[in-house]
Amino acid sequence: NLSDKLDKAFHILKGHGKITEVNVAETLKEVRRALLDADVNFKIAKDFTTRVKEKALGQDVLTTLQPGQLLVKLVKDELTELMGGDVAGVNLSGNPTVILMSGLQGSGKTTFSGKLANYLLNKKNKKPLLVACDIYRPAAIQQLYVVGDSIGVEVYSEPENKNPVEIAQNAIKHAKENGFNVVIVDTAGRLAVDTEMMDEISRVHKAIQPQETLFVVDAMTGQDAVNTAKAFNDILNFDGVILTKLDGDTRGGAALSIKSVVNKPIKFVGTGEKMEAIDVFYPIRMAERILGMGDVVSLVERAQEQFDEEEARKIQKKIAKNEFGFDDFLTQIQQVKKMGNMKDLVGMIPGASKAMKDVEIEDDAFKHIEAIIHSMTPAERSKPSLIDVKRKARISKGSGTKIEQVNQLMKQFEQMSKMMKMMQGPGGKNLMKMMGG
Ligand code: GDP
Ligand code: MG
Repeated sequence: NLSDKLDKAFHILKGHGKITEVNVAETLKEVRRALLDADVNFKIAKDFTTRVKEKALGQDVLTTLQPGQLLVKLVKDELTELMGGDVAGVNLSGNPTVILMSGLQGSGKTTFSGKLANYLLNKKNKKPLLVACDIYRPAAIQQLYVVGDSIGVEVYSEPENKNPVEIAQNAIKHAKENGFNVVIVDTAGRLAVDTEMMDEISRVHKAIQPQETLFVVDAMTGQDAVNTAKAFNDILNFDGVILTKLDGDTRGGAALSIKSVVNKPIKFVGTGEKMEAIDVFYPIRMAERILGMGDVVSLVERAQEQFDEEEARKIQKKIAKNEFGFDDFLTQIQQVKKMGNMKDLVGMIPGASKAMKDVEIEDDAFKHIEAIIHSMTPAERSKPSLIDVKRKARISKGSGTKIEQVNQLMKQFEQMSKMMKMMQGPGGKNLMKMMGG
């Protein structure tokens, strides 16, 4: 699936210390192939990878993380954009608001009609009416009654009437007369797109002029979902897409493709057969699902928040002027600590928790270091060369640490300052690596 293929693409970057034009291009070629395989239109896939490439090459690599992970984040951001960026929501401005369901048979229209009624009743304080316009199968009307009963929502039907346009119009009249403020019209679908079905739904659509025309599609149907969406959109110019059966093992390729082909937002997703199994569609969450790497993504985000560039630049300047002291060291430690508990952080890096399982990580790995620095005078902190044997003894006593620990910190600090000078270049400095190593 798409997620596995993207995974493979990102593996190309493993082991490279830096994002270069060559390894980015290689990776993105794989990403593009993965998108094409997931039914994304060629031009959209090409534009997609071009945008990611530009962003990747313009960014400094965060040295705490592998460049592949930064690229994952860039891809995730673009995927989110591709699926619509923001949450779409439904237009409930009508009086009553009329919502028309469209889609193939078995896509989940009747089930979703119930879920939406339930959602509007409980979450939006609405009084919805369900309307049975699937006139071909008596069982279809019965099914809607079962759904309505289970959520306590009234169902309107005319079992003898074979004209869905009339039924829908009468239902709206009934709603107006009885104080319903949302009318959800469930319709008949066929197993495949045919002119009879399209003709019928477009006649209903014209007659009732819904505020929301929703196209319901089974997420598991891949390429077919895209073609069906296009056919319905050409006739109805619908307002939004409902992606059902996302509880299956599908990873959302359809979400990408449909949005790109019809350029209509996905508004809700169905995640089960129960009436509660409805979610507002969040493009960002779907992007994470497609990547299957939620934890990595949030780790990268946290790192980016904490190691802000401003601070990195300030420190670089100090290093260049030989002014880097223990106060700056302390600031960096505090930044690392802000990212969270060391054990949690390691656990978020895929593979790392296994590799590190025998390594002891103190929950408060920096406690001694902080105590030692706090026992230094301001002069000693800004000019560590002042610290002689006598001062070391005083600091060790004041911080309740052993003299060896003070010596060790002094040595680490010296090494770090040297390394930082050597590594002078763009990007933040990898404090964690230096301290651990
Ligand atoms: P319709 O023909 O478009 O009205 O489709 P239905 O609402 O009758 O749904 C067809 C089948 O799909 C039924 O067995 C539903 O229980 C099932 N179904 C609908 N939505 C979902 C969903 O989000 N997840 C799962 N697992 N099943 C669903
Ligand atoms: Mg149905």
